[in-house]
Amino acid sequence: MAITNPAITEKPGHTKYPTLFTPLDTGRVHLKNRAVMGSMHTGLESEENGFERLAIYYAERARGGVGMIITGGIAPNRSGGIGSKLSEPEDVARHRLITEAVHAADPLVKICMQILHAGPLARGNPVGPSPIKSRIAKEVPRELDESEIEEQLDDFAQCANLAKEAGYDGVEIISSAGYLLSTFLVEKTNRRTDKWGGSFENRMRFPVEVMRRIRKAVGDDFIVIFRVPAMDMLQGGLSWEEVVMLTKAVEAEGATIINCHFTWHESQVPTIATMVPRAAFTSVTERLRKEITLPIIASNRINMPEVAEEVLSQGKADLVAMARPMLADAELVNKAAEGRTDEINTCIACNQACLDHTFSGKPTSCLVNPRACHETLLNYEPTRAPKSIAVVGAGPAGLAYATVAAERGHDVTLFDAASEIGGQFNLAKRIPGKEEFSETIRYFARMIEVLGIDLRLNTKATAATLKDENFDEVIVATGIAPRIPDIEGIDHPKVVAYIDVITGRKPVGKTVAIIGAGGIGFDVAEFVTHSGPSAALNIDVFAKEWGIDFENHPRGGVTGVEPVVEAADRTVYLMQRKPTAMGRSLGRTTGWTHRITLKRRGVHMLRGVEYQKIDDDGLHAIIEGEARVLDVDTVIVCAGQESLRTLYDDLENEGVNVSLVGGAYEAVELDAKRAIDQASRMAAKV
Ligand code: FAD
Ligand code: NAP
Ligand code: SF4
Repeated sequence: MAITNPAITEKPGHTKYPTLFTPLDTGRVHLKNRAVMGSMHTGLESEENGFERLAIYYAERARGGVGMIITGGIAPNRSGGIGSKLSEPEDVARHRLITEAVHAADPLVKICMQILHAGPLARGNPVGPSPIKSRIAKEVPRELDESEIEEQLDDFAQCANLAKEAGYDGVEIISSAGYLLSTFLVEKTNRRTDKWGGSFENRMRFPVEVMRRIRKAVGDDFIVIFRVPAMDMLQGGLSWEEVVMLTKAVEAEGATIINCHFTWHESQVPTIATMVPRAAFTSVTERLRKEITLPIIASNRINMPEVAEEVLSQGKADLVAMARPMLADAELVNKAAEGRTDEINTCIACNQACLDHTFSGKPTSCLVNPRACHETLLNYEPTRAPKSIAVVGAGPAGLAYATVAAERGHDVTLFDAASEIGGQFNLAKRIPGKEEFSETIRYFARMIEVLGIDLRLNTKATAATLKDENFDEVIVATGIAPRIPDIEGIDHPKVVAYIDVITGRKPVGKTVAIIGAGGIGFDVAEFVTHSGPSAALNIDVFAKEWGIDFENHPRGGVTGVEPVVEAADRTVYLMQRKPTAMGRSLGRTTGWTHRITLKRRGVHMLRGVEYQKIDDDGLHAIIEGEARVLDVDTVIVCAGQESLRTLYDDLENEGVNVSLVGGAYEAVELDAKRAIDQASRMAAKV
C-alpha cells in the first residue's frame, strides 16, 4: 500500500483503529481524528492559578493526540453557576490562556467551551421554568418571568460571543442532566402556561432559541455542538419522538455537531459507573444518527480505543467522547495511534477521584493517575542521582511507586510473595461489576516490562535477604492483614475470611451473616447474592436490572419499566455496629447503586449491632437493643484491616534505609486512590 502521509499512515495503530483515525471533514468542521475529550468539571477554576493549571491540563491532552476538546461547563451568567462564568469582556483573558496553550500544543486540535447554565442545580440563587425542586438540590428554584427568559437568551449569545473572542473554536450547549435547558423540556419541571410551556413545541422553545441566538451571534464558521438528552432516565421524561423533534429543530437552527447525553443527575439509573457495560448507550446514538445529517457524538463508558473503533466502524456514531479516560491517560490517543494500546492507563469508571471529588467540592483527579489536574504540582522528572530501590509488595501502592521511580531513572526491583502482581486488586476484579479493575493490573504489568523493572514474584522478601542485596532504599508496600474481631467463637468452622470467599477457597452456605459493612462488606454481599452474568459484561442483564427499555424507548427510556433483579438463592445479613445509615463510606456518586442493588436482592441491612458470640446455633447479637440469634450457615468477616509492617520494623532494626507506603503505612480509611497517590508522590521525590 502506498504511504501518502507518513505522519498519519505509517503508525501501526492506524491499521488497528482505521475509523478512529479517519479525519472528520464536513465542510463546516475539520477534525484530525474522531476522538473527542468530553466535557468534565475539574474544579480548577476556583483554585489558585486555576486557569493557568487548566491551560496546562488541556494542553497535555491536546499533545496526547485527541481531535477535539470540550471544556468543563462555564456559566453564561451569575445565576447559572456551579463553577466559573464567562459573561463580561474582562473574563476573556483567562480563557485565552487555555485556547492559546491548546493551539500552541497542536494547532490542529479544536477546543470548544461548554456553556452550562445549571438552572435549578445552580449554587446560590437557582432559577428555572417553574418553582420545582430537584430531588438532589437544596433549594426551590425561582420561576423566571418572560423578560428574564429574554435576558437569559441574551446571556447565552453574549457568552458564546466572548468564547469566540477568547479563541475557542466553538461552544457546546448542554441541554440535559437537569440543568436549565432540560428543565424546560419535561413536564415534570415545566408547568408554565405561556409560550415557554405546555406542548412540546413550547417546552423546547427555550433550548432551540438558545441555539438560534448563539448561531446568530457567532456566525456560520464557529462550531456549535448541541448536547441533547438522548435518554433522560426520568419517569415521565422525554419520549423518543420528542428527542428526535428537538434534535431536528436544533439542526435546523444551525448546530454543527450533535452530542448525546444520558440521564439527569437526579435519576436513579447508573450511566457511567463501573458496573455499566462499555459503550452501553450507543444503540440510542445510532438510532438518533439515522434521523439527522449532522455528525453525532457517542459517549459514556467508551474507555479504550477498541471500544471507540467498534462504535465508529459499526456506524453508531461519527465521533466518540472520552472524558474520564483522558484523566486516566492524557496520551490515550497517541498510544492507540502508535500501536501501544497495552500501555494505556485505563479509566476503570470508579468515580473515586473525579466525580466523587466534584460532588464534594474538591478538585478533580484520577485514582489511577494522580497527576490528572495536578500537572503543575506533580511531575515525574528524570533523576540526577539514580538509586537501586527495592519495592516490597506489588499491590497498587508498590506498583505505582515502582513504575514512577523507574520512569524517573531509578533501578527498581519489585518483590511480591504472590504469583501475580496486583495485590488486593486481584480480589476487587472478581466482584461482579468491578471487572475493569483488571485493566489497572494489565497496565502495570506492561509498564514493568517497558521500564525494565526487575520483577520477582513468588518471593517473600525478608529483612535478611533485602539487607544482603544492599539496596540504597527499601520501600515496604506489604499492604494489610484482615482484622479478626474479638468475638467469642470467631474460630468456629462456620466463620470465614472475605479473601477465602472471593477466591472461592471456602464454600458459602445458604444463610449468611457478613460482619462489617464497609466497601468490602458491600462487595462481598454483591458477590454472594449475585447470580448469572455480570451486568457490566452483558447489556441485556444491565437493562433488566435497572429497568431500561433501549428498544421501545418509553418516556425517558425507563417509564413503566420495572427493574428485574435475579439473586442467588441465599438469605444474607449485612451488619455494622454503628447506628448510622449503611454504606456511608461508599463513593458519593456510586454508593447509591450498591445500596439499591442489595436492597432489591433482599439483603437484610442491620445496624447498631452488638456481636456476642458465634456457635453451632449461629450468630448471637443484640440488634438495635433486641437479643437475636441469626441461624446462619456462614459468617463472613469483613471487619476492616490492619497494617502489615513487620518487615518494616525488622529492616529498621537492621539499620536499612526504609519507608512505608499504602496499606502498610496506614490501613485506616485506606483505598487504592490513597495508596496510588501517596506512592506516586513519594516516588516523584526519591
Ligand atoms: P495490597 O493491595 O494489599 O498489596 C500488598 C502486596 O504486598 C500484596 O500483593 C502481597 O502479596 C505483598 N506482600 C506482602 N508481604 C510481602 C512480603 N513480605 N514480600 C513480598 N510481598 C509481600 N479500593 C478502592 O479504592 N476502590 C475499590 O473499589 C476497591 N475495591 C476493593 C474490593 C475488594 C474486594 C478489596 C479486597 C479491596 C478493594 N479496594 C478498593 C481496596 C484496595 O484494593 C486497597 O486499598 C489497595 O489494594 C491497597 O494497596 P496496597 O498496595 O497498599 O496493598
Ligand atoms: P472499612 O470500610 O473500614 O469497613 C470496615 C467495616 O468493619 C465497617 O463496617 C466497620 O463498621 C466494621 N468493623 C470495624 N472494626 C470492627 C470490629 N472490631 N468488629 C466488628 N466490625 C468491625 O474497611 P473495608 O470494608 O475492609 O474496606 C477497606 C478499604 O477498601 C476501605 O477503605 C474502602 O474504602 C476500600 N474499598 C472501597 C470500595 C469502593 O467501592 N470504593 C470497595 C471496597 C473496598 P462498625 O465499626 O460500625 O462495625
Ligand atoms: Fe476513571 Fe476512576 Fe480515574 Fe475517574 S478516578 S477518571 S472514574 S479511573
